[in-house]
Amino acid sequence: MNKVRQPAPQLEGLVPYDPKYLPAEAYLSANENPRDVDAEVRADIARRIAAVPLNRYPDPLANRLRDLIAEANGLARENVLIGNGGDELLFDLALAWGGPGRKFLNLPPTFSVYAANARLTNTACVDVPRRDDFSIDEEAVLRRLAAGDIDFVIVTSPNNPTGERAPLPFIEQLLNATDALVMVDEAYFEFSRETVRPLLDAHENLVILRTFSKAFSLAGVRLGYILASPWVIDQFAKVRQPYSVDAVSQVVGEAVFQNRARFEPGIREIIEERGRVQEALRAIPGVRPYPSDANWILFRMEGADAAWEYLYERGVLVRDFSHAPGLEGCLRATIGTPEQNDRLLAGLRAFVAARAEERARAARASA
Ligand code: PMP
Repeated sequence: MNKVRQPAPQLEGLVPYDPKYLPAEAYLSANENPRDVDAEVRADIARRIAAVPLNRYPDPLANRLRDLIAEANGLARENVLIGNGGDELLFDLALAWGGPGRKFLNLPPTFSVYAANARLTNTACVDVPRRDDFSIDEEAVLRRLAAGDIDFVIVTSPNNPTGERAPLPFIEQLLNATDALVMVDEAYFEFSRETVRPLLDAHENLVILRTFSKAFSLAGVRLGYILASPWVIDQFAKVRQPYSVDAVSQVVGEAVFQNRARFEPGIREIIEERGRVQEALRAIPGVRPYPSDANWILFRMEGADAAWEYLYERGVLVRDFSHAPGLEGCLRATIGTPEQNDRLLAGLRAFVAARAEERARAARASA
């Protein structure tokens, strides 16, 4: 037959996720670590990969990596599940706690994948928008949860793309106020130095999401994990793809996790650079950076889309949110190496100066 029937109706109007990755000299668009895994850890990785039997299926649950992560977090293997990136575990969340007739509470603007997963699984998405300064409208969230019909919530801390972490007392209040599953997405917690891990022992309804893609420089490998009670982990295990975490990724994750102290200086440099870039952005006329606990800074400015273009023409790729709902006029720049950050700042200063010059010329011409 030379025709095909329509796919599932929830796909209508859905656009595949697009990271808007374009060739550039300074990649400051995807919140990756600017530094790749160092040579010694790479050599360790190569040795381990050489010993992996490629003809055999991997351990479905990646138990060796599970044990390493469990131990580091004062937990047992049964409290940990590894995924093919945090993205897989986010999809598993929607499969396990969502579905027709079920409801997800979202706090936009936030990571767009959450709402897309809800849609794919026919889960209703209930929005409680953030305030103008992107802080969570805590009273509105608690009020909405009090209705008792929400099945799961995601609180992103620090929140992508706005940058700030969620207040710990609020998360605790939330966990006490509802029996909905509360996922705290800590994909960037290594840069905020704050975790809700201590709340796990007394809250069966908490699940923490983390990733190897950011602080541990492994965006290319696809490894993420959740921490939760054994019962919650079991529910995720029911919906996951049996062999989603391949044998090569498992040993790469083990090598990196066992060498995680070596990533600490890089994390520290990103945190220091974040402070420097924040101040420098604030000093550029018309640029309004938002506070950040993560490895990027979101900023608002006039002519944001033209500024994106101007930077891109000069080799600097940042993420353009200027037409995203609630983020009008915003660009997001990942903290890179000091040299990359200088390039970003020089580009923005030049853009703003050129615009001011243009305006002055126009004013003279019309005078
Ligand atoms: N959560 C948030 C908030 C993110 O920004 C990302 C990465 N963009 C993820 C989860 C998933 O990351 P990964 O799949 O690379 O582990």
